[in-house]
Amino acid sequence: MKWDRVNLNRRDLLKIAGVGAVSAALPGCSDNTASVAKKPVGITGIDGRRVLPWSNWSGNQSCQPNQRLVPRNESQLIEAVKNSQQPIRCVGSSHSFSNIVATDNTLMSLARFRGVKNIDKATRQVDIAAGTRLADIGEPLWEAGLGLINMPDIDTQSLAGAIATSTHGTGKTLGSMSSTVQQITMINGQGDKVICSAEQNSDVFNAARNNIGMLGVATEFRLQAKQRYHLKERSWMLPLGEGLAQIEQQRDQHRHFEAYALPHADYILFISLDEVDQETFAKAPAVENNGDAYETFRTLAKVIDYAPFMRSFIMNRGAATVDPEERYGRSHDIFGNLRDIRFNEMEYSIPAEHGVECLSEILATIKKHDVDVIFPLEYRYVKADDVWLSPFYQRDSCSISCHNFHDRDYKKYFALLEPIFKKYQGRPHWGKIHTLEQSQLSALYPRWDDFMKVRQQMDPQNKFVSNNLKELFSIG
Ligand SMILES: Cc1cc2nc3c(=O)[nH]c(=O)nc-3n(C[C@H](O)[C@H](O)[C@H](O)COP(=O)(O)OP(=O)(O)OC[C@H]3O[C@@H](n4cnc5c(N)ncnc54)[C@H](O)[C@@H]3O)c2cc1C
Repeated sequence: MKWDRVNLNRRDLLKIAGVGAVSAALPGCSDNTASVAKKPVGITGIDGRRVLPWSNWSGNQSCQPNQRLVPRNESQLIEAVKNSQQPIRCVGSSHSFSNIVATDNTLMSLARFRGVKNIDKATRQVDIAAGTRLADIGEPLWEAGLGLINMPDIDTQSLAGAIATSTHGTGKTLGSMSSTVQQITMINGQGDKVICSAEQNSDVFNAARNNIGMLGVATEFRLQAKQRYHLKERSWMLPLGEGLAQIEQQRDQHRHFEAYALPHADYILFISLDEVDQETFAKAPAVENNGDAYETFRTLAKVIDYAPFMRSFIMNRGAATVDPEERYGRSHDIFGNLRDIRFNEMEYSIPAEHGVECLSEILATIKKHDVDVIFPLEYRYVKADDVWLSPFYQRDSCSISCHNFHDRDYKKYFALLEPIFKKYQGRPHWGKIHTLEQSQLSALYPRWDDFMKVRQQMDPQNKFVSNNLKELFSIG
């Protein structure tokens, strides 16, 4: 390999860190089921129809349900819940890495509950159907002069899936998507329609804004939006020591700030997003398309496989070639990135004030144990909220994610880092890999028992509890 061809750019790094979206991943229709598709596919289900197996985006979770339901409207949904003699699990766009969807019983998708329903321009609140992909929210809101307050770094999730796990972006003053929810409509375990907000059924509201699909089926959300806005994204690589010293200052200066720390390298990539006015946007240069990073990183990984002793050298060489970049766009165009590398991920949120210390410890541990990984660690900030099972409950947080290629062993790597997160009172992302058990989880959430009480009221017959969740939540 010629060194002048190891020409990483900043987008390559983002892509490997996962900042980019892949296939639509309709349940059972995503390309990650290709390996499953070669085998005899599916079973005859309880209603006599062929039922396809399910697998998540990265392929680390799979199951064979005995029924799939995709209700067309609310009355079909209510009927299905009332008549079901077996547990039901909802699926969004299958982008969770943790075992929170899989079931041997009914897998229900709200893919037919889509679209932005009502827009109140005065309050800037919008009603959106639960199965709507985040990618389908930006345009209609923009036309109405509005934009979402913040978004995660991809937009292929369903709204219900994103809310169920407190999906978040980054920004010191900005909460997760769940924190922008004003009202939720759900069908509970008895098939009753429940509407909750801060004023109406407030306990259900506090539980349902991070529900892990355990309170019922969410059909609609009212979100707080804001006046539409353009963003300027800036990214720049800097030496690790300098970067670690500057992180908190950068966090305080920008509406959104995140960092990508490169394992085995002496560099860190910073990204900031800030609002710009229409005039600045109009003068901005067009965004270039940097193409596919997949081959670059797979090639790097393969070279490192043959010469692991050169890992640091190769990573530093690559990082040193990254030039600063800027791009401008409408908020939803800038937030929603393309991910063309499949990976597995663990993420913990820790108190914001320990972020830099924790990241430094992680990088040192990776070096010390010579961990075979080149995926950057993603480092973000999220504002505290009041959602009972939110990782950000009453705590301004820093979330740190680690990844590895989907076809490489991630377990040893994640197991090495997990004790560090635990030491800082880390709370795991509900949609990402972790090994915590009920006793450890409940100790991290002051309102755990309140959540369980609401769950029991909403679903007394445990219709929405899979065996995995029974164990994780000690439901018995
Ligand atoms: C490439 C990639 C990038 C990601 N980036 C981010 C990021 O930037 N920030 C972040 O915080 N997370 C991120 N995630 C994690 C992801 O946002 C969450 O796991 C999210 O929950 C996935 O949404 P989904 O629609 O795929 O839901 P699924 O994974 O299908 O389901 C998640 C949960 O929602 C429940 N659910 C789904 N629909 C309903 C419904 N109608 N009613 C009740 N419950 C329901 C399910 O039962 C399950 O418990 C990323 C994941 C991937 C694969």
